[in-house]
Amino acid sequence: MRNNLKIYNTLSGKKEQFKPIQGKKVKLFVCGPTVYDYSHLGHARNYIIFDAFIKYLKSLGYSVFYLQNITDLDDKIIARAREKGVSPKDLAIAFEKEYLKDMKALGITSVSKYARATDYIKQIISQVQKLYKKGFAYQIEGDGVYFDISKFKRYGKLAGRKVLDAEDSVSRIDYSKDKKNRGDFCLWKFKQEPLEPSWQSPFGEGRPGWHIEDTAISENFFGPQYDIHGAGRDLIFPHHEAEIAQMEAISGKSPMAKYWMHVGFLTVNGQKMSKSIGNFITLADLLKRYPANYLRFFIVKNLWRLPIDYSESALIEVKSAVEKIEEFLRKIKNQKSKIKNLSQNAKLIKNFKTNFYKELEDDFNTPKAFAVMFEFISKANTLLDKNLISKKQAGEIYKFFQEIDEIFGIINFKKVNKIIPIEIKKLVKIRELHRKNKEWQKSDEVRLQIEKQGFLVEDTKDGPVIRGI
Ligand SMILES: [Zn+2]
Repeated sequence: MRNNLKIYNTLSGKKEQFKPIQGKKVKLFVCGPTVYDYSHLGHARNYIIFDAFIKYLKSLGYSVFYLQNITDLDDKIIARAREKGVSPKDLAIAFEKEYLKDMKALGITSVSKYARATDYIKQIISQVQKLYKKGFAYQIEGDGVYFDISKFKRYGKLAGRKVLDAEDSVSRIDYSKDKKNRGDFCLWKFKQEPLEPSWQSPFGEGRPGWHIEDTAISENFFGPQYDIHGAGRDLIFPHHEAEIAQMEAISGKSPMAKYWMHVGFLTVNGQKMSKSIGNFITLADLLKRYPANYLRFFIVKNLWRLPIDYSESALIEVKSAVEKIEEFLRKIKNQKSKIKNLSQNAKLIKNFKTNFYKELEDDFNTPKAFAVMFEFISKANTLLDKNLISKKQAGEIYKFFQEIDEIFGIINFKKVNKIIPIEIKKLVKIRELHRKNKEWQKSDEVRLQIEKQGFLVEDTKDGPVIRGI
């Protein structure tokens, strides 16, 4: 098993050797969506990154349990449901369906378990009870149960903050003027209005706070300690800090998660995505305009933890990069050279494989790995032009690209392998004749006929090249 993987850990602020707690088993939790609206490009970034990363870990021989929560109860859901005149439950179910549909369309297949918060109310109540018993929780009458951050000395260690400057954690459900510390967060909110969804508990009828659902779910599946916690950077504070406080206060064990991976922000044309600016891009819309493999390549060609910017021109670049890979593979697939395996090619292929994985081992550095790939494509293209790659070596190259694609999902192999029917080949010949006779209108008509049947003709210096659309 190749394994020299180093990964950047928010907890230490450094790249660290990746070593799971238990041999080759990896337990990973990623914050899932709050299902009150359609998923957008920012969600896509987080989930594509973790999908590719998990598939990469699997390629290294790890077995991975990838757990994701679904927040199906929260203030935003209640507010949106009220706006629309539906029940919070129905709204959450509808948007969970949309979310899973989008994830499927994006080829996100690595999640082992999606866990809905409302299916773990028992576990949530039990965690709140334990926090009570240990003196970390207190009650505000008619309001809720809160976590006292001054009791948890390590509070702020992930985000690099102190208890005192934790004030901006006051959000959503966490607001109350009677809290002991301004940064205290809600564990259980008592029922405020008759139509609010609520559950019975030993402290009173109500519903869970936001942070407690994650630890209740992760403890249920993994116990108090596990390998990786992932999400977007925006959740570091207070959400993840609160998770650490809850779980470590209950178990007395630290760290709750050994590695914390936070995906960088995504902007649209240099601006933060927001509904008020009107640059909010839903995944459903994007997937109508671009195939999933383009979106995946746009995301994975950048380093996972750095910010990226979406723009039309960025996607145009992606399109041409993906087409370059596909065009190369088409040539590789059709290579019929009878020449023997050349030893210098063997070296070139071996170096490509080694260096590609070497870059991934260094903090999953995909931009560097893809740079290695494009350098190889360019060298191999020159060899193909001179007919210097044997059929066997071409087969080896093709197989390696399949291996890469199992991790990243960036190549449309159906398009690469589309068989060109005889009638299309005939049409291309007819078009060539028209072109020779300078009958441009006729040659254009034939080109359109070819396109209608799902193929493109490109004129190169070596004559026309046909490929599937
Ligand atoms: Zn979360």
